[in-house]
Amino acid sequence: MTMQAFTKLVDKAGDPPPPAPDPPAQLPPPDGGAPGAGEGETGVPTLAEVGFTQQPTSPFKGGESVALSRLEEAFKDPKWICGFEKPATDPSAFDRPATTVLSPYLKFGCISPRLFHQRLLRVYRSAKGAHTKPPMSLRGQLLWREFFYTVGSHTQNFNRMQGNPICKQIDWDTNSELLKAWRDGRTGYPWIDAIMAQLQQWGWMHHLARHSVACFLTRGDLYLSWEAGQAVFEELLVDADHFINAANWQWLSASTFFNQYYRVYSPVTFGKKYDPQGHFIKNA
Ligand SMILES: Cc1cc2nc3c(=O)[nH]c(=O)nc-3n(C[C@H](O)[C@H](O)[C@H](O)COP(=O)(O)OP(=O)(O)OC[C@H]3O[C@@H](n4cnc5c(N)ncnc54)[C@H](O)[C@@H]3O)c2cc1C
Repeated sequence: MTMQAFTKLVDKAGDPPPPAPDPPAQLPPPDGGAPGAGEGETGVPTLAEVGFTQQPTSPFKGGESVALSRLEEAFKDPKWICGFEKPATDPSAFDRPATTVLSPYLKFGCISPRLFHQRLLRVYRSAKGAHTKPPMSLRGQLLWREFFYTVGSHTQNFNRMQGNPICKQIDWDTNSELLKAWRDGRTGYPWIDAIMAQLQQWGWMHHLARHSVACFLTRGDLYLSWEAGQAVFEELLVDADHFINAANWQWLSASTFFNQYYRVYSPVTFGKKYDPQGHFIKNA
Protein backbone atom coordinates (compact mmCIF):
# COMPACT_ATOMS: atom_id res chain seq x y z
CA MET A 1 0.00 0.00 0.00
CA THR A 2 2.95 2.36 -0.17
CA MET A 3 5.10 3.28 -3.14
CA GLN A 4 8.20 2.81 -0.99
CA ALA A 5 7.32 -0.82 -0.17
CA PHE A 6 6.29 -1.44 -3.79
CA THR A 7 9.62 -0.08 -5.11
CA LYS A 8 11.51 -2.39 -2.74
CA LEU A 9 9.54 -5.38 -4.03
CA VAL A 10 10.18 -4.37 -7.63
CA ASP A 11 13.91 -4.08 -6.93
CA LYS A 12 13.88 -7.57 -5.42
CA ALA A 13 12.01 -8.99 -8.41
CA GLY A 14 14.64 -7.64 -10.82
CA ASP A 15 14.17 -6.06 -14.23
CA PRO A 16 11.21 -7.16 -16.34
CA PRO A 17 11.98 -9.13 -19.51
CA PRO A 18 12.55 -7.07 -22.66
CA PRO A 19 9.55 -6.40 -24.89
CA ALA A 20 8.43 -9.25 -27.14
CA PRO A 21 10.01 -9.18 -30.61
CA ASP A 22 8.06 -7.44 -33.35
CA PRO A 23 5.52 -9.64 -35.17
CA PRO A 24 6.09 -10.33 -38.89
CA ALA A 25 5.59 -7.16 -40.93
CA GLN A 26 2.43 -8.53 -42.50
CA LEU A 27 0.25 -10.84 -40.47
CA PRO A 28 -1.32 -13.74 -42.38
CA PRO A 29 -4.98 -12.99 -43.12
CA PRO A 30 -7.44 -14.82 -40.82
CA ASP A 31 -9.10 -16.70 -43.71
CA GLY A 32 -5.82 -17.93 -45.20
CA GLY A 33 -6.27 -15.82 -48.36
CA ALA A 34 -3.77 -13.41 -49.87
CA PRO A 35 -2.51 -10.70 -47.48
CA GLY A 36 -4.44 -7.47 -47.86
CA ALA A 37 -7.58 -9.21 -49.19
CA GLY A 38 -10.77 -7.57 -47.98
CA GLU A 39 -9.08 -4.22 -47.32
CA GLY A 40 -11.55 -1.38 -47.48
CA GLU A 41 -14.47 -3.49 -46.30
CA THR A 42 -12.85 -3.83 -42.88
CA GLY A 43 -10.89 -0.54 -42.84
CA VAL A 44 -10.65 1.81 -39.87
CA PRO A 45 -14.11 3.30 -39.22
CA THR A 46 -14.54 7.06 -39.49
CA LEU A 47 -15.14 9.18 -36.38
CA ALA A 48 -18.74 9.75 -37.47
CA GLU A 49 -19.27 5.98 -37.76
CA VAL A 50 -18.25 5.51 -34.12
CA GLY A 51 -20.50 8.30 -32.91
CA PHE A 52 -18.31 11.43 -32.76
CA THR A 53 -19.83 14.51 -34.32
CA GLN A 54 -17.05 17.02 -33.59
CA GLN A 55 -13.56 17.21 -35.03
CA PRO A 56 -10.94 16.27 -32.42
CA THR A 57 -9.00 19.23 -31.00
CA SER A 58 -6.24 17.27 -29.26
CA PRO A 59 -2.77 17.96 -30.72
CA PHE A 60 -1.76 14.38 -29.89
CA LYS A 61 -2.35 12.08 -32.82
CA GLY A 62 -2.75 8.36 -32.31
CA GLY A 63 -0.76 5.37 -33.48
CA GLU A 64 2.42 3.42 -32.87
CA SER A 65 4.61 5.47 -35.24
CA VAL A 66 3.76 8.73 -33.44
CA ALA A 67 4.34 7.00 -30.09
CA LEU A 68 7.75 5.70 -31.13
CA SER A 69 8.86 9.05 -32.47
CA ARG A 70 7.73 10.76 -29.23
CA LEU A 71 9.75 8.20 -27.29
CA GLU A 72 12.82 8.77 -29.47
CA GLU A 73 12.42 12.54 -29.15
CA ALA A 74 12.43 12.26 -25.34
CA PHE A 75 15.43 9.94 -25.36
CA LYS A 76 17.49 12.24 -27.56
CA ASP A 77 18.50 14.08 -24.41
CA PRO A 78 20.00 11.63 -21.89
CA LYS A 79 20.77 14.53 -19.54
CA TRP A 80 17.07 15.37 -19.36
CA ILE A 81 16.18 11.69 -18.82
CA CYS A 82 18.77 11.25 -16.06
CA GLY A 83 17.93 14.52 -14.32
CA PHE A 84 14.12 14.13 -14.51
CA GLU A 85 12.42 15.09 -11.24
CA LYS A 86 8.66 15.19 -11.58
CA PRO A 87 7.95 17.97 -9.02
CA ALA A 88 10.44 20.23 -10.83
CA THR A 89 8.61 19.96 -14.18
CA ASP A 90 6.45 22.93 -15.14
CA PRO A 91 2.66 22.35 -15.29
CA SER A 92 2.15 25.58 -17.23
CA ALA A 93 4.45 24.68 -20.15
CA PHE A 94 2.26 24.32 -23.23
CA ASP A 95 4.48 25.00 -26.29
CA ARG A 96 6.61 22.08 -25.26
CA PRO A 97 5.08 20.06 -22.40
CA ALA A 98 7.54 19.43 -19.56
CA THR A 99 6.95 15.65 -19.44
CA THR A 100 6.91 12.97 -22.15
CA VAL A 101 3.16 12.94 -23.01
CA LEU A 102 3.43 9.22 -23.60
CA SER A 103 0.38 8.50 -21.41
CA PRO A 104 -2.17 8.39 -24.28
CA TYR A 105 0.06 5.93 -26.14
CA LEU A 106 0.62 3.73 -23.08
CA LYS A 107 -3.11 3.76 -22.40
CA PHE A 108 -4.04 2.59 -25.91
CA GLY A 109 -1.18 0.13 -26.17
CA CYS A 110 0.53 2.04 -29.00
CA ILE A 111 3.70 1.68 -26.98
CA SER A 112 4.49 -0.84 -24.28
CA PRO A 113 5.69 0.09 -20.78
CA ARG A 114 8.37 -2.59 -21.18
CA LEU A 115 9.86 -0.85 -24.19
CA PHE A 116 9.80 2.49 -22.36
CA HIS A 117 11.43 0.84 -19.32
CA GLN A 118 14.07 -0.92 -21.38
CA ARG A 119 15.05 2.34 -23.09
CA LEU A 120 15.28 4.00 -19.69
CA LEU A 121 17.53 1.30 -18.24
CA ARG A 122 19.84 1.60 -21.24
CA VAL A 123 20.28 5.34 -20.66
CA TYR A 124 20.67 4.86 -16.91
CA ARG A 125 23.38 2.25 -17.44
CA SER A 126 25.39 4.50 -19.70
CA ALA A 127 25.08 7.26 -17.07
CA LYS A 128 26.73 4.84 -14.60
CA GLY A 129 24.21 5.39 -11.82
CA ALA A 130 24.20 9.21 -12.06
CA HIS A 131 20.46 9.59 -12.41
CA THR A 132 17.44 10.52 -10.29
CA LYS A 133 15.61 7.77 -8.40
CA PRO A 134 11.96 6.74 -7.83
CA PRO A 135 9.47 8.07 -6.95
CA MET A 136 10.48 11.35 -8.66
CA SER A 137 12.54 9.97 -11.56
CA LEU A 138 11.16 9.02 -14.96
CA ARG A 139 11.42 5.35 -14.00
CA GLY A 140 9.52 6.31 -10.85
CA GLN A 141 6.65 7.54 -13.07
CA LEU A 142 6.39 4.13 -14.72
CA LEU A 143 6.44 2.54 -11.27
CA TRP A 144 3.50 4.71 -10.17
CA ARG A 145 1.61 3.21 -13.08
CA GLU A 146 2.50 -0.33 -12.01
CA PHE A 147 1.79 0.43 -8.35
CA PHE A 148 -1.71 1.74 -9.08
CA TYR A 149 -2.50 -1.13 -11.45
CA THR A 150 -1.35 -3.60 -8.76
CA VAL A 151 -3.41 -2.08 -5.93
CA GLY A 152 -6.38 -1.33 -8.19
CA SER A 153 -6.64 -4.79 -9.68
CA HIS A 154 -6.57 -6.37 -6.19
CA THR A 155 -9.12 -4.06 -4.57
CA GLN A 156 -12.86 -4.49 -4.83
CA ASN A 157 -14.82 -1.49 -6.13
CA PHE A 158 -11.60 0.47 -6.62
CA ASN A 159 -13.31 3.14 -8.75
CA ARG A 160 -15.93 3.86 -6.06
CA MET A 161 -16.03 5.09 -2.48
CA GLN A 162 -18.72 2.74 -1.18
CA GLY A 163 -17.65 -0.86 -0.96
CA ASN A 164 -14.01 0.11 -1.51
CA PRO A 165 -12.25 -1.24 1.61
CA ILE A 166 -9.21 1.06 1.40
CA CYS A 167 -11.06 4.31 0.72
CA LYS A 168 -12.04 6.76 3.50
CA GLN A 169 -15.81 7.16 3.62
CA ILE A 170 -16.32 10.92 3.39
CA ASP A 171 -19.60 12.79 3.46
CA TRP A 172 -18.96 14.81 0.30
CA ASP A 173 -21.38 17.55 -0.76
CA THR A 174 -23.41 17.29 -3.95
CA ASN A 175 -23.95 20.36 -6.10
CA SER A 176 -24.53 19.91 -9.81
CA GLU A 177 -24.09 23.63 -10.57
CA LEU A 178 -20.64 23.81 -8.98
CA LEU A 179 -19.65 20.56 -10.66
CA LYS A 180 -20.70 21.93 -14.05
CA ALA A 181 -18.86 25.22 -13.46
CA TRP A 182 -15.69 23.23 -12.66
CA ARG A 183 -16.10 21.01 -15.68
CA ASP A 184 -16.75 23.93 -18.03
CA GLY A 185 -13.89 26.05 -16.66
CA ARG A 186 -16.17 28.70 -15.09
CA THR A 187 -15.05 28.71 -11.45
CA GLY A 188 -13.67 32.24 -11.67
CA TYR A 189 -10.16 31.09 -10.71
CA PRO A 190 -8.10 31.66 -13.89
CA TRP A 191 -5.54 28.94 -13.09
CA ILE A 192 -8.24 26.30 -12.51
CA ASP A 193 -10.33 27.42 -15.50
CA ALA A 194 -7.31 27.41 -17.84
CA ILE A 195 -6.46 23.83 -16.85
CA MET A 196 -10.03 22.72 -17.47
CA ALA A 197 -9.93 24.49 -20.87
CA GLN A 198 -6.78 22.53 -21.69
CA LEU A 199 -8.58 19.34 -20.70
CA GLN A 200 -11.49 20.21 -23.02
CA GLN A 201 -9.20 21.08 -25.96
CA TRP A 202 -6.24 18.75 -25.59
CA GLY A 203 -7.55 15.88 -23.45
CA TRP A 204 -4.25 16.08 -21.58
CA MET A 205 -2.80 18.20 -18.79
CA HIS A 206 0.43 18.06 -16.79
CA HIS A 207 0.31 16.00 -13.61
CA LEU A 208 0.55 19.00 -11.26
CA ALA A 209 -2.21 20.75 -13.18
CA ARG A 210 -4.34 17.65 -12.56
CA HIS A 211 -3.37 17.94 -8.88
CA SER A 212 -4.64 21.52 -8.80
CA VAL A 213 -8.06 20.87 -10.32
CA ALA A 214 -8.61 17.59 -8.44
CA CYS A 215 -7.74 19.16 -5.10
CA PHE A 216 -9.95 22.15 -5.94
CA LEU A 217 -12.96 19.94 -6.74
CA THR A 218 -12.59 17.81 -3.61
CA ARG A 219 -10.93 18.54 -0.27
CA GLY A 220 -9.54 21.94 -1.33
CA ASP A 221 -12.50 24.08 -2.25
CA LEU A 222 -15.75 22.64 -3.59
CA TYR A 223 -15.88 19.56 -1.35
CA LEU A 224 -17.50 17.46 -4.08
CA SER A 225 -16.91 13.73 -4.47
CA TRP A 226 -13.79 12.48 -6.26
CA GLU A 227 -16.05 10.05 -8.13
CA ALA A 228 -17.62 12.99 -10.00
CA GLY A 229 -14.18 14.28 -11.00
CA GLN A 230 -13.09 10.81 -12.01
CA ALA A 231 -16.10 10.54 -14.35
CA VAL A 232 -15.29 13.88 -16.04
CA PHE A 233 -11.65 12.85 -16.53
CA GLU A 234 -12.73 9.46 -17.82
CA GLU A 235 -14.81 11.19 -20.47
CA LEU A 236 -12.38 13.94 -21.50
CA LEU A 237 -8.81 12.67 -21.02
CA VAL A 238 -7.16 11.07 -24.05
CA ASP A 239 -5.13 9.02 -21.58
CA ALA A 240 -8.08 8.07 -19.31
CA ASP A 241 -6.94 4.84 -17.73
CA HIS A 242 -9.23 3.05 -15.27
CA PHE A 243 -6.94 2.20 -12.34
CA ILE A 244 -4.60 5.18 -12.72
CA ASN A 245 -7.47 7.64 -12.82
CA ALA A 246 -9.25 6.12 -9.82
CA ALA A 247 -6.03 5.90 -7.77
CA ASN A 248 -4.98 9.48 -8.41
CA TRP A 249 -8.43 10.82 -7.59
CA GLN A 250 -8.38 8.92 -4.32
CA TRP A 251 -4.91 10.28 -3.60
CA LEU A 252 -5.76 13.90 -4.37
CA SER A 253 -8.97 13.84 -2.36
CA ALA A 254 -7.02 12.38 0.60
CA SER A 255 -9.28 9.30 0.52
CA THR A 256 -6.67 6.55 -0.02
CA PHE A 257 -2.84 6.33 0.11
CA PHE A 258 -2.50 9.89 1.43
CA ASN A 259 -4.64 11.44 4.15
CA GLN A 260 -3.03 14.77 5.00
CA TYR A 261 -6.04 16.94 4.30
CA TYR A 262 -4.13 20.13 5.26
CA ARG A 263 -1.72 20.02 2.29
CA VAL A 264 -3.99 21.97 -0.03
CA TYR A 265 -2.95 23.61 -3.31
CA SER A 266 -3.93 27.27 -3.48
CA PRO A 267 -5.88 27.85 -6.72
CA VAL A 268 -4.07 31.21 -6.99
CA THR A 269 -0.51 31.04 -5.65
CA PHE A 270 0.33 27.53 -6.89
CA GLY A 271 -0.15 28.55 -10.54
CA LYS A 272 1.67 31.88 -10.00
CA LYS A 273 4.73 30.03 -8.77
CA TYR A 274 5.21 28.42 -12.20
CA ASP A 275 3.64 31.03 -14.44
CA PRO A 276 4.01 34.50 -12.86
CA GLN A 277 3.22 36.25 -16.18
CA GLY A 278 0.04 34.22 -16.77
CA HIS A 279 1.10 32.92 -20.24
CA PHE A 280 -0.68 29.62 -19.73
CA ILE A 281 -3.88 31.33 -18.65
CA LYS A 282 -3.82 33.78 -21.58
CA ASN A 283 -3.30 30.95 -24.07
CA ALA A 284 -6.01 28.65 -22.69
C1 LIG B 1 -6.57 13.33 -10.62
C2 LIG B 1 -5.60 12.65 -11.56
C3 LIG B 1 -6.08 11.78 -12.53
C4 LIG B 1 -5.17 11.12 -13.40
N1 LIG B 1 -5.68 10.28 -14.36
C5 LIG B 1 -4.83 9.64 -15.19
C6 LIG B 1 -5.32 8.76 -16.20
O1 LIG B 1 -6.51 8.55 -16.35
N2 LIG B 1 -4.40 8.16 -17.02
C7 LIG B 1 -3.06 8.36 -16.89
O2 LIG B 1 -2.27 7.78 -17.65
N3 LIG B 1 -2.57 9.15 -15.91
C8 LIG B 1 -3.41 9.81 -15.07
N4 LIG B 1 -2.89 10.61 -14.08
C9 LIG B 1 -1.45 10.57 -13.79
C10 LIG B 1 -0.54 11.58 -14.50
O3 LIG B 1 -1.04 12.88 -14.36
C11 LIG B 1 -0.34 11.25 -15.97
O4 LIG B 1 0.04 9.90 -16.14
C12 LIG B 1 0.77 12.12 -16.58
O5 LIG B 1 0.50 13.49 -16.38
C13 LIG B 1 0.88 11.80 -18.06
O6 LIG B 1 1.79 12.64 -18.69
P1 LIG B 1 3.17 12.09 -19.25
O7 LIG B 1 2.93 10.90 -20.11
O8 LIG B 1 3.87 13.25 -19.83
O9 LIG B 1 3.90 11.63 -17.90
P2 LIG B 1 5.46 11.37 -17.59
O10 LIG B 1 5.81 12.20 -16.41
O11 LIG B 1 6.29 11.52 -18.80
O12 LIG B 1 5.49 9.87 -17.07
C14 LIG B 1 5.64 8.73 -17.94
C15 LIG B 1 4.51 7.75 -17.71
O13 LIG B 1 4.46 7.33 -16.35
C16 LIG B 1 3.10 7.10 -15.95
N5 LIG B 1 2.73 8.02 -14.86
C17 LIG B 1 3.20 9.25 -14.62
N6 LIG B 1 2.63 9.77 -13.50
C18 LIG B 1 1.78 8.84 -13.04
C19 LIG B 1 0.91 8.77 -11.92
N7 LIG B 1 0.79 9.77 -11.02
N8 LIG B 1 0.15 7.67 -11.76
C20 LIG B 1 0.27 6.63 -12.62
N9 LIG B 1 1.08 6.62 -13.69
C21 LIG B 1 1.83 7.72 -13.90
C22 LIG B 1 2.23 7.41 -17.16
O14 LIG B 1 1.98 6.20 -17.84
C23 LIG B 1 3.12 8.34 -17.98
O15 LIG B 1 2.84 8.35 -19.34
C24 LIG B 1 -3.78 11.32 -13.23
C25 LIG B 1 -3.32 12.21 -12.26
C26 LIG B 1 -4.21 12.87 -11.44
C27 LIG B 1 -3.68 13.81 -10.38
